[in-house]
Amino acid sequence: MDKVSQYLLEHIPERSGFFTSMEQYAKVNRVPIMEPVSMNFLTQLVRIKKPKTILELGTAIGYSALRMHEAYPLTTITTIERNEKMFQIANENIRKANKSHHIRVILGDALNVIEKFIQHNETFDFIFIDAAKGHYQRFFTDVQPLLNDEGMIVCDNVLFKGYVVDEEKSDHVRLQKLAKKIRDFNDWLVTQSNFHTSIIPIGDGLSVSVKRK
Ligand code: SAH
Ligand code: MG
Repeated sequence: MDKVSQYLLEHIPERSGFFTSMEQYAKVNRVPIMEPVSMNFLTQLVRIKKPKTILELGTAIGYSALRMHEAYPLTTITTIERNEKMFQIANENIRKANKSHHIRVILGDALNVIEKFIQHNETFDFIFIDAAKGHYQRFFTDVQPLLNDEGMIVCDNVLFKGYVVDEEKSDHVRLQKLAKKIRDFNDWLVTQSNFHTSIIPIGDGLSVSVKRK
């Protein structure tokens, strides 16, 4: 880890025992939850934005959903997860935290669920994309009808361990291909004329997009 990243990590608040144990679980079981510094920034965005409704793609164990809800308890979160085991663990964590009335986890592929939401005219103030990295452009395109006019879309992992800017960094063809997909997504994202986008180099890289008026 570079010095600036280390410094930032030393300058975020400590998490509660509950969240620390979730972080520990994720580490031991290799669940790719958000990194602490970018998680801290995401909660800050939620505090600033005060979204009534949040949509998250990619729940995993429910860590980021619970952190966002803690940051702004008046929000209602819908989060989508396609892996049944993760879905169950997330529900268990949400129940333990007494947040079942505020966070709903939906089991299914995000693209199918998004389509259903569009049919039901559901809308959200804040959308967080943190699912399969190879499909970001599709996710970002498909969720747009669900976003309110003042809405914000945040994507995680847009720098993908630095592989996005340094192809040679990985000697795995699979990772290189994935990095190229994310690079193509970023190139596309920053030229979308209906959004203002900013890429932030913390954690695994975040993009923050707001609708252009
Ligand atoms: N947001 C979580 C981490 C999510 S990890 C946190 O920071 O706490 C990414 C998750 O997205 C994985 O659990 C994976 O199963 C899920 N996922 C990947 N592609 C998906 C898709 N198309 N639809 C729904 N879930 C998906
Ligand atoms: Mg992520």
